[in-house]
Amino acid sequence: MEKRIRLEYLWLDGRDPLPKVRSKTRYVNTSYIGSGIPDWNFDGGSTDQGSLEDSDRLLRCVRTYPDPFNEGGLLAFCEVCYYGGVPHESNSRTHLARLLKNTEGILVGFEQEVTFINPTTLQPLGFLLSPEKQGQYYCGAGCMNVIGRYIMDEFEKKCLGAGIELDGINAEVMPGQWEWQTAAQGPLKCSDDLWVSRYILDRISEYHPVIISYDPKPHPDLNGAGCHTNFSTAQMRDCFVEEDYAILSGHLEDDHDEHLKVCGAGIESRMTGECETSHYSTFRLGVADRGASVRIPKKVKEEGAGYFEDRRPCANIDPYKVLYSLISSVKKSSLL
Ligand code: MG
Repeated sequence: MEKRIRLEYLWLDGRDPLPKVRSKTRYVNTSYIGSGIPDWNFDGGSTDQGSLEDSDRLLRCVRTYPDPFNEGGLLAFCEVCYYGGVPHESNSRTHLARLLKNTEGILVGFEQEVTFINPTTLQPLGFLLSPEKQGQYYCGAGCMNVIGRYIMDEFEKKCLGAGIELDGINAEVMPGQWEWQTAAQGPLKCSDDLWVSRYILDRISEYHPVIISYDPKPHPDLNGAGCHTNFSTAQMRDCFVEEDYAILSGHLEDDHDEHLKVCGAGIESRMTGECETSHYSTFRLGVADRGASVRIPKKVKEEGAGYFEDRRPCANIDPYKVLYSLISSVKKSSLL
């Protein structure tokens, strides 16, 4: 009998403002995937991507990962299309892919913050340990100072098992809040990896259980949750100096309102000008300034080359939309 392989098809649903990753399992003969992962279909009427009368939608695999939950299997990360291959309206990846045609040299890294919520109290995990202050949690150790490491340890192993490269992980400022940093990669790969790593965290949460929250402001008195986006072009990594900052700042400021539309629903609750944020209503680029919208690291200024950190994106971004917007602005300069 021919050997069969387990495929877990992953796709983004049509929920607005933040899609969720959906998945379903399929076994196929190994010979059947010789020319690539076969298209599959699903009920778009159950994912906000179709209706009862017109529900069949197509899954088209764009990247595979080793399945860290099922040895020998693959995660098949897919775009959603109509029959015939026309991308569905919810398919933001395809727009970014088109924008990137004939564009090379961009590197991106995300700093994804996440909050674990206790499903009984609906408060951040461990919040009742010390609800009045948040000083001891950032990069803490010990059961009173850090909450949820067992989840992140498992997350780290599973990401590595899936071949997703991480740059780091740390406990964050508020209780039950964590961050992971994706390794710097091209825009599509980095965004795909971010979505698949979110999926891995969702899967792990089923066993504990905790609610995985990307709410930009999970608690009104505590730090918010962001997804700072580090960005460079080949030109910037070669030479990036003060004259460039001014030009870049001008383009980003001109497009600030457009950027805000994709920086996460509820951004005004997080970007208040407090808690290491700028105010959402204004744009400012600054060197070494964590109160700026976009920060140029001190090291970059000293070395005359490197990257910038966009501090506006919230934890609940669609990375494809954020990068589409950012790259469209940077393209107006000579930096790309
Ligand atoms: Mg952080």
